[in-house]
Amino acid sequence: MTKKYVYFFNEGDASMRDLLGGKGANLAEMTRLGLPVPPGFTVTTEACTRYYEDGETIAPEIVEQIHEYMKKLEEVTGKKFGDPNNPLLVSVRSGARVSMPGMMDTILNLGLNDETVEGLARATNNERFAYDSYRRFIQMFSDVVMGIDKNKFEAILDEIKEKRGAKFDTDLTAEDLKEVVKRFKELYKQEKGVDFPQDPQEQLLEAVKAVFRSWNNPRAIVYRRLNDIPSDWGTAVNVQSMVFGNMGNDSGTGVAFTRNPATGEKALFGEFLMNAQGEDVVAGIRTPQPISTLKETMPEVYNQFVEIAEKLEKHYKDMQDIEFTIERGKLYMLQTRNGKRTAQAAIKIAVDLVREGLIDEKTAVLRVDPKQLDQLLHPTFEPEALKAAKPVAKGLPASPGAASGKVYFTADEAVAAAKSGEKVILVRTETSPDDIEGMASAEGILTTRGGMTSHAAVVARGMGTPCVVGCGDARIDEQAKVMRIGDIVVREGDYISIDGSTGNVYIGEIKTVTPEISGDFAILMGWADKYRRLRVKANADTPRDAKIALEFGAEGIGLARTEHMFFDEERIPAMREMIIAKTEEQRRKALEKILPMQRSDFEQLFEIMGEYPVTIRLLDPPLHEFLPHLDEEIRELAEDMGVPFEELKATVESLKEFNPMLGHRGCRLAVTYPEIAEMQTRAIIEAAINVKKRTGKDVKPQIMIPLVGELKEFKYLKDIIVKVADEIIKQSGIELKYLVGTMVEVPRAALTADKIAKEAEFFSFGTNDLTQMTFGFSRDDAGKFLATYYEKKIYEFDPFEKLDQEGVGKLVEMGTKLGKQTRPDLEVGICGEHGGDPSSIEFCHRVGLDYVSASPYRVPIARLAAAQAAIKYGN
Ligand code: PEP
Ligand code: MG
Repeated sequence: MTKKYVYFFNEGDASMRDLLGGKGANLAEMTRLGLPVPPGFTVTTEACTRYYEDGETIAPEIVEQIHEYMKKLEEVTGKKFGDPNNPLLVSVRSGARVSMPGMMDTILNLGLNDETVEGLARATNNERFAYDSYRRFIQMFSDVVMGIDKNKFEAILDEIKEKRGAKFDTDLTAEDLKEVVKRFKELYKQEKGVDFPQDPQEQLLEAVKAVFRSWNNPRAIVYRRLNDIPSDWGTAVNVQSMVFGNMGNDSGTGVAFTRNPATGEKALFGEFLMNAQGEDVVAGIRTPQPISTLKETMPEVYNQFVEIAEKLEKHYKDMQDIEFTIERGKLYMLQTRNGKRTAQAAIKIAVDLVREGLIDEKTAVLRVDPKQLDQLLHPTFEPEALKAAKPVAKGLPASPGAASGKVYFTADEAVAAAKSGEKVILVRTETSPDDIEGMASAEGILTTRGGMTSHAAVVARGMGTPCVVGCGDARIDEQAKVMRIGDIVVREGDYISIDGSTGNVYIGEIKTVTPEISGDFAILMGWADKYRRLRVKANADTPRDAKIALEFGAEGIGLARTEHMFFDEERIPAMREMIIAKTEEQRRKALEKILPMQRSDFEQLFEIMGEYPVTIRLLDPPLHEFLPHLDEEIRELAEDMGVPFEELKATVESLKEFNPMLGHRGCRLAVTYPEIAEMQTRAIIEAAINVKKRTGKDVKPQIMIPLVGELKEFKYLKDIIVKVADEIIKQSGIELKYLVGTMVEVPRAALTADKIAKEAEFFSFGTNDLTQMTFGFSRDDAGKFLATYYEKKIYEFDPFEKLDQEGVGKLVEMGTKLGKQTRPDLEVGICGEHGGDPSSIEFCHRVGLDYVSASPYRVPIARLAAAQAAIKYGN
């Protein structure tokens, strides 16, 4: 028997979403529920997959099944496809498993040609309506199926409207519309070199193919990548007999949500257009009326609609987004689906549905997309102001939130401007650790290079500062202090606005608002905490970050990067002195200066975190990052430090590495200069003791060694740490427990985790480095070629953003297992960027990690994602 590729609406139900797509499955379900759905059929997602397997052709057996079902549709409707006397017309619509805005959506009135249009006019006794439908069909088919720019059609329509003095499409007469059709067909011939296809069967097959093709258009590919949708799902095609909203003033079409999709308020929310077809509502040609006006004009239809909407919401137990059409006073349902909504609405609806007894707490927790919570945690543009603004460039949305401010091209100028009270957007080609202060004082950060884990992206996310990176449309001339975007020239001090949630860049100032977090948000997070197993900590280096993290529910600090504390203007001299020291003695002297600064930083972190564990990592980056690079800057520093320029320059040169990411960094620094580890240990332990004495709280310091790849390397440093720590503790006379653990971020550490766990008391997977070293490409350079990899479908997502479960994940799973084999109470966590990414968190839950650590603003996201993982997979 041949495989079944086509299903009539009454052959399916809502459970068949994978095969029929969301739209198809719900049309089937509504048919099953006895709702007024125009009859039709669905060509399955498997037919789409097959289309690609067969080299983008439709197999004859699929064509045959489509014809067969078309016959069935003719029988049910009593009309005939292509019959001039009683023509059957259909809509053709795409529908993947999940709705995908990047894809082809709709072709209406398919089946019309020069003859059937006359038949339609006779059958309805409405010539105007028939030609209105035909001109719409020609435009949609030409645009969506044949790729002819729809503006060319709009231009013709506008021209004829103007000639006739018609304000709206509805003001055009049958004769006008005939003229439109004639001109449209001429345009088609001019563009395609052939006549507009008159054979309905050909129209249908071309439309089906166009839907299949739209699965792979660039927008759809990008959308899939952003939303974790696999490319092998394919889309279904729905072919449905037409009902007409453009048959006069007792007809119309509309879209409605059963609750307000922006606020979540429980009230029918929708829009409606009289005498119109689907696309008019969206296109904004005429202003639709609120659905409540139907109550007055067609009370019976309105009541029926309200009843159906309630029924659907109860049936799906979720807010529905419903499309409907009224044809001569009769209501038809064209689509229902779980409606898209803002984060605020998602939370309110989920909590309300629990209150209404429709769903339970666990279901409510699963209903909110963790990524969406971002919207609630950062400022956004004021919606009205945003509508009026036009983006001039687009980069990668690296750190969410909206920001407006004056452009400055260097960190120093940004700092100075911020100090004098200006709102600043720091614009750089790319950022480096030198820019930290400038970044911290900026409202937003824009770079023209770099990917989602570039320095700017990581640091900005950590700070919760809106950031757009890799904005290749913009060119910066730092010397001249200008940025060029096409013809637009932006100078220092000019206002721009950036949206770190979309990557959009705007010229000028746009007002921002901080969305209110309602009580329901707290309720939902409370449920999440009840059901999750993974603990959630934060990556936090500063008291400010630590406080935010705590407010957002972090249960400790999973990673404090100590180096970030040293780019401060007042501190960097001591660090530089340490780096250029020639002897151990000189180095120790410089470290002495650093000690009290570190100690006071750590005291603040311990104080804020109380009895939650605070994991502090020893110095990690290559030392040259702390030194200036330009001669001018070196000369200035040499003067400040009282050393000869040549000597300092030679030191800078000597610290240069071909590949600093794989060079003298991480624990390698402390192996060569153990006094650094000694000083840092002293700072950590003394700080802990001071805070314990002061507050009486049982502080929990955890000292973490970065970039370990070998047991002996770890052991060497642990011995130093323990010696220093125990001595200080003994002298203090108070009891203090501390742990010494390691980052697992070099593949060799994961491979030998059983050995390393003999000495390490905890593990934290540094999946930024682990990803870089497993793939063998640099975190900072991968952005350049990854785009090509997505285009060629070699990778579907950025492995620095979302954990590569197959490869890097295998190392995580193996490292966890091996480590716990050796030391069953080994605490294992993750502190790479993936610790805040929902799909990666789910993986961490499944392979038995104990906690995730995310940047402060992603802590709530991590809490929710951890709960969803526990609900889906059990503890
Ligand atoms: C990591 O490598 O995952 C990590 C957290 O360390 P960093 O990003 O500071 O190298
Ligand atoms: Mg690292």
